[in-house]
Amino acid sequence: MIYRKLGNTGLKVSVIGFGAIKLPQISYEEAEKILNRALDLGINFIDTARAYQDSETKIGKAISKRRDEFILSSRGLSRDRDGILKDLKTSMRELQTDYIDIYELHAVNDMETLEKVLAPGGALEGLKIAKQRGLIGHIGITMHFDLNAMKKAIESNEFEVIMLAYSPLDHEGVNREGILKLAKEHGIGTIIMKALLGGQLVLPETAAGLRKEDPLVRLSLKYVISNLYVDTVIPGMKKLHEVEENVRVGDEPLPITEEEKKQLYELISKVAKPAERGWLAQACLQCGYCTRVCPQNIPVPEVFKAYRIYMNYPENLKHLGLEIYKSLEVKPDACIECRSCVQVCPIKIDIPSKLKEAYKVLEEASR
Ligand code: SF4
Ligand code: SF4
Repeated sequence: MIYRKLGNTGLKVSVIGFGAIKLPQISYEEAEKILNRALDLGINFIDTARAYQDSETKIGKAISKRRDEFILSSRGLSRDRDGILKDLKTSMRELQTDYIDIYELHAVNDMETLEKVLAPGGALEGLKIAKQRGLIGHIGITMHFDLNAMKKAIESNEFEVIMLAYSPLDHEGVNREGILKLAKEHGIGTIIMKALLGGQLVLPETAAGLRKEDPLVRLSLKYVISNLYVDTVIPGMKKLHEVEENVRVGDEPLPITEEEKKQLYELISKVAKPAERGWLAQACLQCGYCTRVCPQNIPVPEVFKAYRIYMNYPENLKHLGLEIYKSLEVKPDACIECRSCVQVCPIKIDIPSKLKEAYKVLEEASR
């Protein structure tokens, strides 16, 4: 297992961590088995949250006796000082520990919420008190969607750890738009969630329980940890064989090779095709191959990015997608359907038809 420094925290975490989001889906006995197996195999980073139902309780019952063998991270959703202290107290009780290495402010997904937690009396103040009292070691934040809010959180220098969503599709743009790099430059530890796109980067046979070793999972995780701005990734696990397979990725030589990347893209295109809706149908790798051959100079990846954000982000953040769309000099209706782009697209997106779809939705929404 490869271990990496978690920013400037002084902690060294296994590059494959244990995401405990799925523990509520299994029995206590199963949870005990897989958590102990994870520790035995070298995973030393366990990540949970107040919001993950009985996940904290199961961890506390199963492995609190081995507390000195792992770095523990949990988080609360409260936005004010007293609320987060209450969350922390509950987490400590459920986790059966008097110390949590990292406690995060959970899902600070827009500027308004960020300003709230940073303000006097906000949740950050609560975590500073907890740190002073020696209840937690480090203060973290978990964020989705709003890249400007992420930048602001990093540049505030208030957080030692940040958790972001990143996958081979870089579906929130945290790598492409320099957020991971910025975190690194500020000495902030980076924890990656949603590396398998919330379970979408899994072969259908695996999802149906018909196969165990899944090359799409393996290569997706390998892709993510090959990025040296990433300190650890926390795939959610609920089966013994998932723990064992994920651990093996942490033992493999890095980085991912060009041949493996090609294989990964082929596998993504396989699962992307049947998905008519959701992330994958609109996801693109943002590789830019299509723009190099487009006679109309259509900024295809930007159109898809705007469309994906508009379709998938919560109501209060959809404007981020529209802003990108409005700023485009060439709009998707310039497409002459020559299909040169489809030939070079590594995941064979039906670009002309997706452009039409995006145009219809984004034009209407812009009016
Ligand atoms: S099909 Fe449309 S987007 Fe694709 S290369 Fe031709 S003009 Fe450009
Ligand atoms: S070639 Fe395909 S994957 Fe690459 S940017 Fe264009 S649409 Fe996206």
